[in-house]
This record gives sequence, structure tokens and C-alpha cells, in this order.
Amino acid sequence: MNEILNYFNQLYPSAHCELLYTKDYELLLAVMLSAQTTDKRVNQVTTILFHTYPTLEDLRDASIEDIINIIRPLGTWSRKAQNIHDIASALLEQSHGVVPNDRTFLEGLNGVGHKTANVVLNNLFGEPCIAVDTHVARVSTRLGLAKQSDNVKQIESKLMKKFPKDQWGRLHHQLVLFGRYHCKASKPQCDSCQLQSMCCWYKKQYQKAKKASC
Ligand code: SF4
Repeated sequence: MNEILNYFNQLYPSAHCELLYTKDYELLLAVMLSAQTTDKRVNQVTTILFHTYPTLEDLRDASIEDIINIIRPLGTWSRKAQNIHDIASALLEQSHGVVPNDRTFLEGLNGVGHKTANVVLNNLFGEPCIAVDTHVARVSTRLGLAKQSDNVKQIESKLMKKFPKDQWGRLHHQLVLFGRYHCKASKPQCDSCQLQSMCCWYKKQYQKAKKASC
């Protein structure tokens, strides 16, 4: 596993979350909004959303229709708008307007699952977590760190067993960046990748190409 860590540290020495936020709840909402869309699109939308509604109270009191008009580019806008309202209300009523370092509380919020809680706990509190999104899952299976048939919980558990705990937080960001910009879903940049020799996906493609040329 050292080979992977060394390579990622070389590629992304200061890997961090690419979602933009200045307040704790803004990160929570941004991660919730990022389901089934890109961080880039979320950043475009939240820039407007958090400027229009600069406090939790403003978000709680905004009309769902007005929020939908802002977040429409993200898809599933109706559910996400309701989640924004519900999360703002829950934070104000149950947590003094603060995002707590409390997984049970976070996972009890509408629209917040295990992965979102992991990202929030990792970024806000430095908790050792590996959130498995589509990029992390793809890179993990290609590198043989997990099986194609594994679900996200199984992938997370395998990654946590294979890598030292003090690397989990940074590794999560590095896996996301590697999947987003290097080991892309289509056309991964294998020619420039230093993990070829240990990559199951690359070996399979190489063997297929070799057979085809015989
Ligand atoms: Fe991804 Fe290709 Fe590198 Fe394998 S060799 S990890 S598929 S970029």
C-alpha cells in the first residue's frame, strides 16, 4: 500500500475538499447537494444560494420555491430544497445552529447518509474517515483494493483495513482527485500512471489488447 500512498502524496500533496464553504453548515449542505452531480456545479449554485441566504435562519425561512429556483441545475431539486430547509431547521432547533461532531445526529438529518457524514466529520473535525463516492469506488476496484461486487460499506471497510488510520482523511481526498482527474471513468490516463504494475484493470485491458493483436 506504500506504493499507492507515495504516488498519491507525490500527485496531490495538499489534497483537500473541492467544495467551497466558509461556515460549517455550508459544507454540510454542499455535500448533501453534491449527490448525483459535480462539485463544480455545486460550487456555482452554492455561491448564489449562500449569498442570497447568508444565515441558517434565512435558509430555514426561505420558500421552497425560491430555493428550487436557485438549485435547479443540480437535479432532484425538489427533494434537495426540502432537505436544505429541514437541515437548517434541525441545526437551529437541536444543535444551537452548529454542526456537531456527532455521527448519529448527522446521519439522522434528512438527505444526510453515511458518506455525507464521513465527508463532514473528516473536513470539519479531522475525524479519520474514508467516504466512498463514485471516484473512490472506481479507483479502489480498478486497483484491486476491493471487488467489483462490493458495496460502498464493504469498500470503505477494506480501505480502512489496508491503510493506516492516520492516512484515511488525506487518502479519501486523494482517491477522489485521482478518480476525478486521472483515473477517469472513461479514458483513464494509464500511460502516465505509476500504478500500472499493480492495477488489475490495466492488466486486463493490456491482455485484451495483446490477444486482439495476435
Ligand atoms: Fe487507473 Fe489506469 Fe492507473 Fe489503473 S493504470 S489506476 S486504470 S489510471
